[in-house]
Amino acid sequence: MSTLSCRCGATVRDHLIPCPTEAWLVRDLDQDAHRDAAARDVAAFFTAAHEGRRDAWIEAYFSPEYPTDVGDEGVVSDILGVHDRRFRLSVAECAQCGRLWVQQDAGVDAYRSWSPDAPGYAAALAGSVETDRSRP
Ligand SMILES: [Zn+2]
Repeated sequence: MSTLSCRCGATVRDHLIPCPTEAWLVRDLDQDAHRDAAARDVAAFFTAAHEGRRDAWIEAYFSPEYPTDVGDEGVVSDILGVHDRRFRLSVAECAQCGRLWVQQDAGVDAYRSWSPDAPGYAAALAGSVETDRSRP
């Protein structure tokens, strides 16, 4: 998206990282397939690593240009990112009227809006930062 013109006249932006007016959603009907596919690829990565085929697996999965100095945590994060891009939809809240803009399909630059019953920005997508790493 980067920017879109809201019906109220404001400009909705998602250029900040992290962005307090953006969130992501996965449709319930896609959730299991999303998790299963990601888990399958993460397991295949670790199997390849244990069998001494780590670099070959990474090259085949990502590309020959994928950096060779990325640790396991980074590779797993990138695998999850591959699957996120296939399933996740962007949701953006207008900081002026509170209207939510939902991406119509993954990878598509088209959005549909929903207006709240009580107009005005509600920081509905602001979220919180996870600080307790001891929780599973
Ligand atoms: Zn608006």
